[in-house]
Amino acid sequence: MERKQFELGDVVEMKKPHPCGTNEMEIIRMGMDIRIKCVGCKHSVLIPRLKFEKSLKKVLRRAENSAEQGGE
Ligand SMILES: [Zn+2]
Repeated sequence: MERKQFELGDVVEMKKPHPCGTNEMEIIRMGMDIRIKCVGCKHSVLIPRLKFEKSLKKVLRRAENSAEQGGE
């Protein structure tokens, strides 16, 4: 089974949009539980990793501070 790839700082789209109407969540903490922050209303929620993986639709944007910037 394919595992979805996500990292700290990524902005993801969930299967269900947040009640505020925004469907962009930023991963702000990783661990046993994942803390995501709604990009629209800045509300953050802590959800178990398994539940997060199930409700994750796709990764919209990768974390910008990635090491693979290229150049010098
Ligand atoms: Zn929201």
